[in-house]
Amino acid sequence: MKKGVINVLDLGELSKQETKRVLEVGGTNVIRADVYGTHIYNYVMLDTKSFASAMQIVEFAVKDLPLNNKAICYLIAGVVLPNGLIEKSPQVPMLNGRNFIEMTKAIYDGRIFIGNDMDGGAMGVSLLLPNLRYFINVVLGTGTNGRIVHEGKIICKGEYGHIIYKRDLSARLCHCGLTGCYESEIGGWALEKKIIESARILRIEIPEGLNPCCFLDMCFDRGDKWAVIMYQEIAYDIAHYFANLQSIAHAPVFVLKGTFSVRGFPLIEKDVRSFMKDGMIIRKEWVDEIKFIISPEPKLDSIIGVAELEERAFNELY
Ligand SMILES: [Zn+2]
Repeated sequence: MKKGVINVLDLGELSKQETKRVLEVGGTNVIRADVYGTHIYNYVMLDTKSFASAMQIVEFAVKDLPLNNKAICYLIAGVVLPNGLIEKSPQVPMLNGRNFIEMTKAIYDGRIFIGNDMDGGAMGVSLLLPNLRYFINVVLGTGTNGRIVHEGKIICKGEYGHIIYKRDLSARLCHCGLTGCYESEIGGWALEKKIIESARILRIEIPEGLNPCCFLDMCFDRGDKWAVIMYQEIAYDIAHYFANLQSIAHAPVFVLKGTFSVRGFPLIEKDVRSFMKDGMIIRKEWVDEIKFIISPEPKLDSIIGVAELEERAFNELY
């Protein structure tokens, strides 16, 4: 972790600041931290499997609160209704149908908020990079989604990854239920499937225990033709996605996060730009204008951001 973001303070020092407790529940980890501005204290990460019930997670959120704790903020992967009901949590099924706001109220008497992880991430980037006035925040990981941020406000919320891209026979079923979404072409889970299929057709054996995406990178690095072609296809799909986002937003900066942004994207950035300019966007100069950067804190931006979203929701600015 980088210096300056995660701090360890003794309780005496921490008690002077008004912090917010954030609990992020993901598919593999539960993260708990106390947030003050862009600073994070008392960071704890546990395996999601170490919790036997949703109530245990709520109890963990409320435990050992700093004296000046102002609110409890949850970030939950899945569909959460404004009243706190978790309608769909594909990654952590024990949360399905539970209401974290009601459950927390039973043991905590204070402000409670549930935020969306994409909103949290975009807001976090905006706080961490205050000079960025206008940007598109895009996750390229297991799935893909984005937000457009202008002057510190999220101005465009949506499901960017589930825009329909393909309607022909090559279109793949997305786990959202639609067919041919960007996510079902460039999401990490879709890429894994594609790599396994290609390897099978070409009779290439993926070494046991090796992630298919890592195998693709290995083959790409040594110049294997199939891997180079596959990367070209990924570059084309991403170019189409980014060209559409840029046609709508005309933003000077794309802030990326997610495994693919760090590992795969730098290898194909040039190709992505040239595909975009080759008949995908009305103004080619809008492609040259884009600066691609990685979120300064890809693992922490949503934790920092959700505390700010809570503040705005409390003041009804969000
Ligand atoms: Zn979809």
